[in-house]
Amino acid sequence: MREHRLTIVVHGGAWNIPENLVGDSIKGVEDATKIGWEILENGGSALDAVEAAVMNLEDNPTFDAGIGSVLTENGEIEMDAMIMDGKFLNAGAVAGIRDIKNPIHLARLVMEHTDHVMLIGEGAMRFAKEMKVPRISQELLLTDEALAAWNKYRQFKKAVSTFFSGHDTVGAVAIDQEGNLAAATSTGGITGKKPGRVGDSPIIGAGGYADNRIGAASATGHGESILKVVLSRQALFYVQQGVSVIAAAKKALSMMKARVNGHGGLILVDVLGNYAAQFNTEKMAWAAMSDGVLAAGCSNPSA
Ligand code: ASP
Repeated sequence: MREHRLTIVVHGGAWNIPENLVGDSIKGVEDATKIGWEILENGGSALDAVEAAVMNLEDNPTFDAGIGSVLTENGEIEMDAMIMDGKFLNAGAVAGIRDIKNPIHLARLVMEHTDHVMLIGEGAMRFAKEMKVPRISQELLLTDEALAAWNKYRQFKKAVSTFFSGHDTVGAVAIDQEGNLAAATSTGGITGKKPGRVGDSPIIGAGGYADNRIGAASATGHGESILKVVLSRQALFYVQQGVSVIAAAKKALSMMKARVNGHGGLILVDVLGNYAAQFNTEKMAWAAMSDGVLAAGCSNPSA
């Protein structure tokens, strides 16, 4: 008998999601969760489940990852992603990549086909070519919403850290039948970011982490804040100390707020399949399937 519950948790970014996007955001995370769940239920790996869930979200224009990615100061798309396998702590990441439909798949190829953990920019694009990963034009990645957010950014010219912009990075964590854990996170970043800016999402420990002995985490929110407190690993550190996943996620987010006034969200799963979806922003679309039971949410009454 398995001692843990099969579980997958997905998020669609922590931010002040406008009312007109709430429905699509919840449906998007639920659909992605079901895709990942089917893999887990059929005996597939946590790694395959999180990759498939995140690829589905990257293909969904509602979210700021893959199609729907937001624009840099210069009006270009630069995407970041990471994936991690908790069994041997293998990880792969890409940053500053441009014409790729599914950055999470490229991150997985980095993990499985190179001796490295992260490839950036031109080097990552050359590797994508070697791996025959199909290219997609920036026009096809760009949505009207991302363009509207960029125009608003240009109009107000506020600093990225204070500017209200869409944060809807996507992520997934899961535990499979064998007790393996995995995490995946993918993003277009923040509207108006400087070209070359890399946020937390592809950074192992900040944007995500997975360790079969502790749990798996994926983060979202203000990347610079998340980086400073290494949010995903910090939350798992609390789990490692015996704190429940819900309390650990809350504690890590409170610490980020207290230390660097940072806002964001976290999804966590532990070795028993207990899960958490917590955020200190107004909203974060999330969905989970644990032991066949689907749950989802979006609002935070206390934010
Ligand atoms: N953390 C991401 C970044 O700063 C943004 C987000 O989560 O929406 O690039």
